[in-house]
Amino acid sequence: MQTARDVKEYREELRRALDNDFLRQAMDSFAVAYRAGRAKAFDGMDVDGLIREIAQAKDDSISRLDELYDEFKRNAEAAGTKVHLAKTADEANQIITDIAAAAGVKQIIKSKSMTSEETQLNRHLEAGGYEVTETDLGEFIIQLRHEGPTHMVLPAIHLSRYQVADLFTEVTRQKQDVDIERLVKVARRELRPKFAAADMGISGANFAIARTGAIALVTNEGNGRLVTTLPRVHVALVGLDKLTPTLSDALRIIKALPRNATGQAITSYVTWITGANECAASPTGKKEMHVVFLDNGRRALANDPKFAQVLRCVRCGACANVCPIYRMVGGHQYGHIYIGAIGLILTYFFHGRDKAKNLVQNCISCGACKSVCTAGIDLPELIKAVHARIQDETGSSLSNTLLAQALKSRRLFHVLLRSAKLLQKPLTGGGPYLRHLPHMLAKDQSFRALPALADKPFRDTWEEIRPRVLNPKWRVALFSGCLHDFVFPEQLNAAVRVMAGRDVALDFPLEQSCCGLPALMMGEAAVARDVARQNVMAIDPAKFDYILTTCASCASHLKKAYPTFLGHDPQLAARVAEFSAKVIDFSSFVQDVLKLEQADFIGDGKKTAYHSPCHLCRGLGVVAAPRELIGKAGLDYRRSEEEDVCCGFGGTYSTKFPELSAEILKKKLDHVVQSGAELLVTDCPGCILQLRGGLERRGDGIKVQHIAEALADVLAKQD
Ligand code: SF4
Ligand code: SF4
Repeated sequence: MQTARDVKEYREELRRALDNDFLRQAMDSFAVAYRAGRAKAFDGMDVDGLIREIAQAKDDSISRLDELYDEFKRNAEAAGTKVHLAKTADEANQIITDIAAAAGVKQIIKSKSMTSEETQLNRHLEAGGYEVTETDLGEFIIQLRHEGPTHMVLPAIHLSRYQVADLFTEVTRQKQDVDIERLVKVARRELRPKFAAADMGISGANFAIARTGAIALVTNEGNGRLVTTLPRVHVALVGLDKLTPTLSDALRIIKALPRNATGQAITSYVTWITGANECAASPTGKKEMHVVFLDNGRRALANDPKFAQVLRCVRCGACANVCPIYRMVGGHQYGHIYIGAIGLILTYFFHGRDKAKNLVQNCISCGACKSVCTAGIDLPELIKAVHARIQDETGSSLSNTLLAQALKSRRLFHVLLRSAKLLQKPLTGGGPYLRHLPHMLAKDQSFRALPALADKPFRDTWEEIRPRVLNPKWRVALFSGCLHDFVFPEQLNAAVRVMAGRDVALDFPLEQSCCGLPALMMGEAAVARDVARQNVMAIDPAKFDYILTTCASCASHLKKAYPTFLGHDPQLAARVAEFSAKVIDFSSFVQDVLKLEQADFIGDGKKTAYHSPCHLCRGLGVVAAPRELIGKAGLDYRRSEEEDVCCGFGGTYSTKFPELSAEILKKKLDHVVQSGAELLVTDCPGCILQLRGGLERRGDGIKVQHIAEALADVLAKQD
């Protein structure tokens, strides 16, 4: 598999993938059907509770891999299985080749195994002169095409029946129909003699049960059973992370696995194999049974306090199913061997920095993967951590270094923004958007109009607008974030108007700076930490009841990331804990603290759609408050499709991967237009930049407002 040399080359690959209409359509239909199917499959179940239990049990197993391995080996060998341990991918491949040679094997059949993709086992066996046939339908197809899987569970999802019919026509030298059932029959006909003639079957395993020495395979096609029962030799190649103490631990995962993978309540087959069973094809009457455990960095990962949780992964593929990037470009561009969110992380650990360095930047940090992960892995955080690690190992680019340095010093950063304000005049022509971008930027950013910097930043107006409150009920510090301070101060002004006359003593500590999320998105973790420290020192949490921010991304970052950055610093731990606990987003503050009611508004029934910012709905779990406020304000809420799917902004992401940002935005705006809304409301200035800029370019005439503006526009007069 070729790896792009740099982001520029990687972007070329992404562009080609975006041009593949069938791929886009197939991924799209699957993404929509998957969401509905998953919700139905989990209906009535305590999903979060189940995920928590799985995560805890997996963490326990990961912390004692060696012990579980020893127990498995003892029990499996007592049942007649030979157990091997391979430190590396090459070692695993060699062990399996040696087994084949010793047993006089000629033909091998395989059932689907991501672990064997990881070690590139087929290539190794074929180089040794063995004929290897994949028997899972999807794997069979991609093997014939000489390519890797594009999905962990559905390896050939990127291919149309027309492509498969052409492929089968070529292979069978007979014209094949495009009817799917007939194509399946062709595959069956081709595979049947392979099953009958094979001397060795190779499978993976979803579980290796230490207490019994059994392995289990969870499959949807009957091929797994044929591969593991018909040939006289069976080898299971299993990652050490599949070790599980008991059968009930495995059953708990099976409750979630098919539901989360494909939205099925149960899978077609769960095959349990303990020891060397009877086998008619074997001269001894008993099967030769081997389990080869693969380490390939897993033991080192198990000891890594930050990354050990990636070993919880049960390979359900859900993190790809919901990823807006994966949905656009498919697995070949969104992973190396392992795809989706987990692929961005595992590629670094299993296949090295060179393979991971471009991929890991292709995450918009929308949090969708984390919200569905069977094992509760904090995927977006770990992706950012891998990015930061690679950056530390390779050194930052010049542009990153300059931007990071600017972000690090509040004064310098603000001086630069003020200078940019003066320099932008020729670009804006005095209007609200940058009309004449430099050629390079103009091409990449043509999908959206970019806003001009505001005439006066919010901080420069603060002393004029600061409300004087004699008997405050709440003392609130405003945290603006860069966009509300320097680009859209009118949105923060609107928030101040909504709070006026409601006993809120507001303060705007002027030493506050950027929240640090942009630095983290650039892989500059040290700068992000530094900026976090500055903000925690700028706003003394003891002086306030709340730290209120009108930016959903800032809110989520201040609340969730700051404790992980600064919580280990004994001097700051208590302060940062109090700081983060007091952070609140605007909608929650108005709904839950101020408790504004219908009587507080005089809405005009404007048809209003809502975009749910990723960092609000998934980052902070705030879902109902903004929608309820839209209703209370007397606006006519029009639900649009996929309201909680990312808008494609992602801060620096939208400048690094503009093609993807544009496509995600297009889908979002199509849904908004279909809703018939005249007004689109959201809670995050970053989303506003993206949505407003996109609508301006399209000329659809839909107004975009921050929810604070929408509420401030329809406030009833107070007594
Ligand atoms: S955070 Fe969003 S963009 Fe990043 S991997 Fe997860 S789903 Fe994909
Ligand atoms: S990381 Fe989570 S969602 Fe992704 S494949 Fe693994 S278990 Fe499934």
